[in-house]
Amino acid sequence: MKSTDAIIIGAGVGGLSAAAYLAQAGRGVIVLEQDRHIGGTAHVFRRSGFIFPTGPQSVTMPGYISDSLCELGVGPPCFIRDCFQVRRGSMDVMISVPLREISEQLSKIFPEEQKGIMAVINVLEEVMTALDVLKPEDLIEQAGTTNSAARVILHWGSIPARELVNSHLHDERLKDLLGSQGTDETEMSVVLLAQMWRFMSKEGIWYTRGGICEVPELLAMRVRAFGGEIRLGERVERILIHAGTAVGVELSGGARIRSHLVISDADYKETILGLLPHDVITADKHEEITRMPLTSSAYTIFLGVKRELVDICAFRGHHLLVKLKEGKPIPWELKRPIPEDFLQDEIWLSWWSRHDHKLAPPGCEALIIKVTAPFDHFAPFSGGGNGQHCEYYYSMKEEMAGALVSAASGLVPGLPDAVVVREVATPLTYKERGHRSAGSVAGWSWRFDDFPGQTHSLTFTPVPGLLMVGLQSFTRLFYGGMGTSLYSGRYAADIVLSGTE
Ligand SMILES: Cc1cc2nc3c(=O)[nH]c(=O)nc-3n(C[C@H](O)[C@H](O)[C@H](O)COP(=O)(O)OP(=O)(O)OC[C@H]3O[C@@H](n4cnc5c(N)ncnc54)[C@H](O)[C@@H]3O)c2cc1C
Repeated sequence: MKSTDAIIIGAGVGGLSAAAYLAQAGRGVIVLEQDRHIGGTAHVFRRSGFIFPTGPQSVTMPGYISDSLCELGVGPPCFIRDCFQVRRGSMDVMISVPLREISEQLSKIFPEEQKGIMAVINVLEEVMTALDVLKPEDLIEQAGTTNSAARVILHWGSIPARELVNSHLHDERLKDLLGSQGTDETEMSVVLLAQMWRFMSKEGIWYTRGGICEVPELLAMRVRAFGGEIRLGERVERILIHAGTAVGVELSGGARIRSHLVISDADYKETILGLLPHDVITADKHEEITRMPLTSSAYTIFLGVKRELVDICAFRGHHLLVKLKEGKPIPWELKRPIPEDFLQDEIWLSWWSRHDHKLAPPGCEALIIKVTAPFDHFAPFSGGGNGQHCEYYYSMKEEMAGALVSAASGLVPGLPDAVVVREVATPLTYKERGHRSAGSVAGWSWRFDDFPGQTHSLTFTPVPGLLMVGLQSFTRLFYGGMGTSLYSGRYAADIVLSGTE
């Protein structure tokens, strides 16, 4: 049995970050990744000359990402600011601009609501200013912070954003836009909402030139340069326990690697409920973890289109969030594969190749269409994790894609006939290829009631010697998805290097 200082399960951004910081400090690390590529969900795929992202489309906190990479001895990638637009009826607003500009745009459309718009924006700015001065360490369980910024966060963290928008605004479109940055009803706390606006309007949301895989690839380069080992195509089947403590892992081929430190970048529920022996945690803990709510999943269509056949002048930036008809979205279990059943959804359209002409062949454009989709609707069609789903699943997925593309043509005329490449990802894809419980795309639930109070770290697990990293190792994505994953690796490495694990 081989032995090492630390075993890292998963070569996503969180796992590679932990590995890089530990290897830089001279610790022996072995990263075991079940896929044959680096980066986990932060990866790209190619079809007939088009390049699409498998998961994240953009990053937040590029300054933090750049500083971390520099700390690890490598130059950061080039980031390009993403531009977001929301359209709903006569409302057409650019939202990736300073809040004051958003308020001007909205006050022109809703002159009678000017006072309410300013009241909401003043609160958002107050919380954003507090967030500017607080570091993640201050936000995590509010460790010892009693300054005025911490008090602002404590206060607004206990108030749902719905309460804020309802008390100042009347028009539902306005409430949804300021409360969710789109066309959906807001569900988060005021602090989380301000965090989102801080990313959108102040710090920016950014595309990574060269693809979203650049950051994990740079991390992997540093892991290897510091002497760490990364093994692709190696699935960890279980975590070995002796006297209640993690002592290594067993791979799917049966080989074992011994270590007194196992760091998992895998899905949290999968790690605790799937990789640990059943008797290691109590029945109560098992139940509690099973119930922990996640963000929902998505239904995504990746399109390669002929430029001359499609009219994309509706786009003023890279991303366009649109609700084509007023009313509540038709639930997935009632949706028929007809365009009308998608008109009330929030449809997220991305003009993907606008970032870089290399993302599509000459004369073509790459587009992405995304809507929220619940895992439970797709779960019954699963083939049980072996990738072979029921026949109905494949026809339903394609028919729904046809309907959604037709719905989107209300804004992008010519779309259905311009398509030369079409790939679809459903919640089952995000579960089986993305390896995330219930195909969840953005960590733990963002709903106000689900994780009330402050940000908690889940780095420590019920098992000594087993730490968690990755986007689910904190209850809030304070640096966005990838930024938080990167931070989680550093956070876990600091615990190990200070000997407090
Ligand atoms: C559709 C989608 C859209 C997203 N959009 C954004 C976005 O726009 N911006 C953003 O910042 N974030 C986004 N995210 C979140 C994104 O996942 C994170 O930002 C970040 O890349 C996650 O990194 P991670 O290391 O935490 O986890 P992952 O990327 O999930 O990596 C975990 C790794 O562990 C491996 N693994 C799991 N189990 C095992 C095992 N038993 N043995 C071996 N290896 C194992 C997996 O194969 C995977 O490679 C999105 C995610 C998805 C799925």
